[in-house]
Amino acid sequence: METVKDYFGSLVFDDRVMKAMLSAKVYSSLKKTIDEGKELDIGVANAVAEAMKEWAVSKGATHYTHWFQPLTGITAEKHDSFISPSPDGGVIMEFSGKELIKGEPDASSFPSGGLRATFEARGYTAWDPTSYAFIKGKTLCIPTAFCSYGGQALDKKTPLLRSMEALNKQALRILRLFGNDSVKRVNSSVGPEQEYFLITKEMYEQRPDLRLTGRTLFGAKPPKGQEMDDHYFGVIKPRVAAYMEELNNELWKFGILAKTEHNEVAPAQHELAPIYTTTNIATDHNQLTMEIMQKVASKHGLVCLLHEKPFAGVNGSGKHNNWSISTDSGQNLLSPGATPYENAQFLLFLCAVIKAVDDYQDLLRISVATAGNDHRLGANEAPPAVVSMFLGEELNAVLEAIETDTPYKGAEKIQMKLGVDVLPKFNRDTTDRNRTSPFAFTGNKFEFRMLGSSNSIACANIMLNSTVAESLKIFADELEAAEDFEHTLYGILHKTIKEHKRIIFNGNGYDENWVKEATEKRGLLNYRTTADCIPHLLDKKNVDMLTSQGVLTEEEIRSRYEITLENYCKTVIIEANTMVSMAKTQIIPAIETYTTDVVKAATAKKAIDPSIACNYENSMVKKLSELTDRIFSKTEELEDALIDLDNAEDIGAESVMIRDNVLELMGELRLACDEAETLTAKNYWPFPSYADLLFGVR
Ligand code: ADP
Ligand code: MG
Repeated sequence: METVKDYFGSLVFDDRVMKAMLSAKVYSSLKKTIDEGKELDIGVANAVAEAMKEWAVSKGATHYTHWFQPLTGITAEKHDSFISPSPDGGVIMEFSGKELIKGEPDASSFPSGGLRATFEARGYTAWDPTSYAFIKGKTLCIPTAFCSYGGQALDKKTPLLRSMEALNKQALRILRLFGNDSVKRVNSSVGPEQEYFLITKEMYEQRPDLRLTGRTLFGAKPPKGQEMDDHYFGVIKPRVAAYMEELNNELWKFGILAKTEHNEVAPAQHELAPIYTTTNIATDHNQLTMEIMQKVASKHGLVCLLHEKPFAGVNGSGKHNNWSISTDSGQNLLSPGATPYENAQFLLFLCAVIKAVDDYQDLLRISVATAGNDHRLGANEAPPAVVSMFLGEELNAVLEAIETDTPYKGAEKIQMKLGVDVLPKFNRDTTDRNRTSPFAFTGNKFEFRMLGSSNSIACANIMLNSTVAESLKIFADELEAAEDFEHTLYGILHKTIKEHKRIIFNGNGYDENWVKEATEKRGLLNYRTTADCIPHLLDKKNVDMLTSQGVLTEEEIRSRYEITLENYCKTVIIEANTMVSMAKTQIIPAIETYTTDVVKAATAKKAIDPSIACNYENSMVKKLSELTDRIFSKTEELEDALIDLDNAEDIGAESVMIRDNVLELMGELRLACDEAETLTAKNYWPFPSYADLLFGVR
């Protein structure tokens, strides 16, 4: 029988295949490009292309595509076949180094947020050799970056790679200062935990809101929701288990290290986590995972919902971004060391993260901002929209000791190898668990929990990498110029803790009082919606940092501002239109039919005996008629609010109108419709109820 070992990575042109199919010379030169970013010469590219094609064709591939991640958030591909005519009337399969390295998709149909106005619409894709090529269906997919001809990044991969480079550069400076000369490369790694819902395809098809917007726009609270907490880590239903089994197999073929799977808090909600890998590959893998999750679901008569908030009143779905930094020799720089000396380096990296998160709370919030995620953040389940950090008791005590210049836990100050007597000794793996912090230290990594389930993880990691690179740069500048390294080092730690400890919060992040304390006492930011936070992408301090780290140019930042807000507005407008249409063409007619039948029942009763009171009928007809009128007037108001958007001066103004008017009216319309649902006989209601959807997969 074929085992996992046999088919793991079978669809990937990975290191094993490269080693087997490339000459030693080509292989080593490609490895240099992959590991150290050395430029690739065309001769090597030709040899790699030839091997890739041979391999792909032997696996049944007929086409190739440059696979990229435009700013829409999904992946894009344009397929070309390998065939080329041969003189004898047949074809040969061809693929050149040039075709591998560069592609020219029509960039004009992808969002460029203003970049198009100043630059040519055309763009090109460039091979990213650090992420392996793979076969999907009959197509060889080549991971690529996507740029305009002016060199502006039109995608998420390009800034992600730049941010990794920025972090590498600054972290290396720090390591050199600690006497580490052998490390060649520092990388950030990520293991994203992906949450999702599974519902039956049959019910999905009956809900225009799910089909058009990915979430339910109506739906009364079911008699049973997640009150019992009986789903979390519960027994997995056979149909779901079959789905997970096939999903794992498919992911493994793509070399994706799917590792854990379990039920989540809400009914019908589940989670999948892979083993962590470099940020770039983890991002590609997560995009692929989301695609495969949906594809496999369809084969099982299911639909996989990746929306952040498919059901109101039920937990939404997030994505926990477990992030760490490590060296090419495998040392995790966020892992407390065994000796105080190692701990000094660890504490410096820790302080770099603390400073980054505090200085750039806004960028972290911005990096997870979408219309969908706005429903999660700040609701009673996901972290609040306020960014804070959890470090755990032990680390907290260590930091406090440094800040107050007191011995740690009453112990004598420990002598450092270098002779400083200031840094406390502490144990590794002592962190406690906290599940409500947006940004929690979990022993040797940080878990950033604000990401929405459908977000590309690229955006969050671009910001993590570049903000931490910025802190490290400031530290390295100071340390390199220092006369007394240890003294300066201690000073940096001391100062960072003092200045940034307001960002550290070890309590319950879901507590209402926390938001009050955070904003009023600590002065932390609380950007509740996308419309609130995105304008701050353009704040000078953010533009200065991102441009000086070489992660995004000013134009690129501007374009991301435009695209994110455009996306927010478009998403809500589609939802609003869907609501209007469902209310007018399905909900109101359903209530009318039911009301008419109730009236008929009363008339029939009265015909038999005019003295029958018909209290039920009278009261229902009155209530339902009131609701019908309310629903009608709310749809009219909502339509007017949508028309009014044409008067918005720019996208910023439009997003504010969406936030204040459109979303508000959508909420009111929903309230009336949901109330009507609870009063209308079930077989008159035009779509499956929450109970049907949430408990429908058996
Ligand atoms: P939990 O649900 O307790 O948060 P999981 O085991 O579900 O934990 O997920 C932890 C995730 O963190 C996994 O994807 C794992 O691979 C990842 N991870 C573990 N160690 C590291 C590390 N050093 N750097 C980045 N990610 C890591
Ligand atoms: Mg987690």
